[in-house]
Amino acid sequence: MQLKDKFGRTINYLRLSVTDRCNLRCTYCMPERGMTFAQRDQLLSYEELLHLVDMLGDLGISKVRLTGGEPFVRTDLPYFLKELRKRTFLEQISITSNLTLIRPHLDELLDLNIRDINVSLDALDRQGFFEITRKDEFEEVSKSLRLMIEKGFNLKLNCVVMKCKNEDQILPLLNFTKEHPVSVRFLEEMPFNGSGNGSSEVLSYKQILSLIETHYNYSPLVHESSSTSQNYQIDDFKGTFGVIPSFSRTFCGNCNRLRLAATGEMRTCLYGQDQLNLKELLRSVIPKDQMKKEIIEAVMNKSENGFAASNENEEKYLSMIKLGG
Ligand code: SF4
Repeated sequence: MQLKDKFGRTINYLRLSVTDRCNLRCTYCMPERGMTFAQRDQLLSYEELLHLVDMLGDLGISKVRLTGGEPFVRTDLPYFLKELRKRTFLEQISITSNLTLIRPHLDELLDLNIRDINVSLDALDRQGFFEITRKDEFEEVSKSLRLMIEKGFNLKLNCVVMKCKNEDQILPLLNFTKEHPVSVRFLEEMPFNGSGNGSSEVLSYKQILSLIETHYNYSPLVHESSSTSQNYQIDDFKGTFGVIPSFSRTFCGNCNRLRLAATGEMRTCLYGQDQLNLKELLRSVIPKDQMKKEIIEAVMNKSENGFAASNENEEKYLSMIKLGG
């Protein structure tokens, strides 16, 4: 059985949030204070998460990306990673992390062959990092980054570009790929900052490319059809760069994503509203087939794109920490 929506898109990629907590306070993700976090019993346990991954595996999910909040904030994450790795139907297990807590786990990750790590990094200096994350963790992050490059992790650095805030970080991050075999991706800012409203002005992916064009010539790279990133190569650079039109939403035609929040909400589109709460269904002990039927139906009704989903969404935009990114 393979999950598909009414537009014929194959849904095989699960973005799984394991926690709504984070040790950073990024300005584009949440307010400095006032966020409430799920209590332990409101979170899906590791056993429940594994049960749901198995069920979704029966429905054709073959790729899982662990997100949060910050996944390594959740206790015993390595135990969960080991159990996930036993799921042979999973062709790919990857993680999105801010690298503040990952260093003690690097060898475990390599042993589990979990090498694909997306790094949330919006500045390449201590002051710039502090201004965005409101935490003084840059030293630890850059130590982990360099060690992970040395150890051969497959790293993608995701930088959310905020107009008039960290545009000055585009070139330093780009230049980082001159000597380092990593991919830096510049994301448009999205309206998931916990205020319910988006930022007044978004620097578009076209504006980011024009800015880069004034400094470098670059050539386009072929990318996976379901990839959200448009990737490019600058001659003689060891790494590559990309832009992700996360607000312009130009990539929805090949969307293969399904999201599950750490508190059980299943979402077929980041900009949409929750379709089902798999935690409640699971804890209400409804038959497995019934649950699968509800998931299949929800996916079949996935919105055509992020704009349609946004129009159908009666809720205020939540903080990215609640959506799992
Ligand atoms: S905006 Fe929605 S439909 Fe578009 S790629 Fe993202 S999740 Fe998929």
